[in-house]
Amino acid sequence: MPASTFSVEDGIVSASPAASNLAIPAGDAQCQALTRLARAHFGVATALVTVSHAHGQRLQALDGLPPDVLPPNLSGPPLHATTKTAKVVVVPDTSDDERFGGGRSGGAARWPRFYATCGLTSADGRHLGALYLLDKLPRNLDDAQQNFLRELAGLIAHGLEREQALATLRHRVGKLEASGELMTLALAGSETGTWDRDVVTGKIDYSPAWKSMLGYAEHEVSNRIEDAYLRVHPDDLAYVQATMQSHFENKTDSYVVEHRIRCKDGSYKWICSRGKVVGRDSDGHALRMVGTSTDITALRETAAQLQQSIEMVTNLTNEVPGMVFQYRLMSDGLAFFPYASEGIRNIYELTPQQAATSAQTIDALIDARDWVAYRESLEESAASLLPWHLEYRVRLPEQGLRWRQGDAQPRRLDDGSTLWHGFITDVTDRKHIEAELQELATIDFLTQLPNRRHFMVQSEAELARIRRAGSSVAAVLMFDLDHFKALNDRWGHAVGDKALSHFAALLRAEVRAGDIVGRIGGEEFAMVLPNTGADAAITRAACVQQRTSRTPMLHGDEFIALTVSIGIDIMRTCDVGVDQSLSRGDRALYRAKERGRNRIEIYGDQT
Ligand code: GH3
Ligand code: MG
Ligand code: MG
Repeated sequence: MPASTFSVEDGIVSASPAASNLAIPAGDAQCQALTRLARAHFGVATALVTVSHAHGQRLQALDGLPPDVLPPNLSGPPLHATTKTAKVVVVPDTSDDERFGGGRSGGAARWPRFYATCGLTSADGRHLGALYLLDKLPRNLDDAQQNFLRELAGLIAHGLEREQALATLRHRVGKLEASGELMTLALAGSETGTWDRDVVTGKIDYSPAWKSMLGYAEHEVSNRIEDAYLRVHPDDLAYVQATMQSHFENKTDSYVVEHRIRCKDGSYKWICSRGKVVGRDSDGHALRMVGTSTDITALRETAAQLQQSIEMVTNLTNEVPGMVFQYRLMSDGLAFFPYASEGIRNIYELTPQQAATSAQTIDALIDARDWVAYRESLEESAASLLPWHLEYRVRLPEQGLRWRQGDAQPRRLDDGSTLWHGFITDVTDRKHIEAELQELATIDFLTQLPNRRHFMVQSEAELARIRRAGSSVAAVLMFDLDHFKALNDRWGHAVGDKALSHFAALLRAEVRAGDIVGRIGGEEFAMVLPNTGADAAITRAACVQQRTSRTPMLHGDEFIALTVSIGIDIMRTCDVGVDQSLSRGDRALYRAKERGRNRIEIYGDQT
């Protein structure tokens, strides 16, 4: 009985010589019985059944003389090919057959001499394996016998198929059980219970975890859906039932609700229930629904607290006058306001969203005069991480030119960006008051010219400038109205005041850019003319004088003529203070009075 009898031939699926393939598996009594029936019916030495697998075939059932190796499968198509009808192959004498090495070693020792096989084919045409008949002597099978062999093979195939389906099912059930256990373990740790509802009978089963979630023992919860609805908070019941109904009617993919449910002790818990109809009748009516319920009481409380905190912070930031903000400057230069309170609507006439992704909308509102200071102050704050503080002007579509004050604390983040927390307030009114105060402190109310103090400050600055410049000059002109006492006496003090305003207006008309002018006494005025030497100063003084005499003051229907005496001095870089030049100008003025008034005198000319 040489093993070469079952040698591999081209195109023939070989029997695997692996010893394990010859082990007869336990179980599948039907296959075994049919194999026995085959051997008995055909009266052969051996009947056996093999099943095909990816690498060949293995023994499934055997009756009679066991072969050393599995016979070649001549009935089966190459694995994975499909055929609907089982194929019968009969080799009456293997010694005559090429596929069995026919003629190479004949004689009575050859085993098997007779070989017949029928393929085992599934209902959908898959090749499952083969049924073999082997005998020691040559013989043949007539058509009726071949048909019977085919029928037997059909029965065996049917059984095998069922066995295989069962095995697959068992495998899946095993996996389901394992995942079910995992699910139970997962649910146990997550305050979640499960339920299973028979929609038709209204019976609902709860898992032990579901019951204990509400404080019930295993036997304390009824299975009636009516009782389930009694546990739902009355205010939530309609919503719960409507949501459930919608899912029953297939309007939703699944059922998800958050609602309150009464515990055993009468208190209410918030739960999130999720479920799905898993069975419907042919009309689509829900038959069965399964789901979970999770205790979300703590989650809701935390969420409510969080919401409260958010509301408080939001209210606070929205109530604070001005705008509370977060400003972030990324290392690549991109800047935006991740948070801006409602105040942004007044501060910048924008919405929080408009500044959320880019600060450009705000940058565009900064007044050109303050833009550099705005940008540099933020850059400085980012570099030094010192607080940002700036008063700056914005130009808004509705409000026009307004003053803003910004204060913020910077912080460097891990990604290299800088985040400021701060606020911006409207300081326009304060700025206006400050400006008024400044004016009050610097401007003479009657004439609206700079007062003596302010004139002196500005003049000192000019003296400092010509000292720095070295070669530069500036002229000082002192004015005193002539016979003013007499004017007061004749027309009254109020008209005297009016005359002072009149003269101030004339003086202002003669002022050029850079000139400094002021009322420095009762009816005394002064001017400092930068870059002006003696000759030019005399010319400018003459202009004032002429304008004054040409423009009398109209009072009622009378004209009141005014004249002015003018003393001139040229500032000197060696002067300690501007006072020195003013007093020299005063001396020149005195001489103008002396010499008859309505005159111009310059210090140094026979002074
Ligand atoms: P002179 O030509 O020599 O300058 O004669 P004058 O009368 O102008 O003499 P003086 O400079 O001594 O007199 C200034 C007068 O100006 C005295 C004062 O009553 C008057 N005066 C000073 N301040 C005011 C003011 O605010 N309003 C009015 N109406 N008169 C003022
Ligand atoms: Mg005077
Ligand atoms: Mg005078």
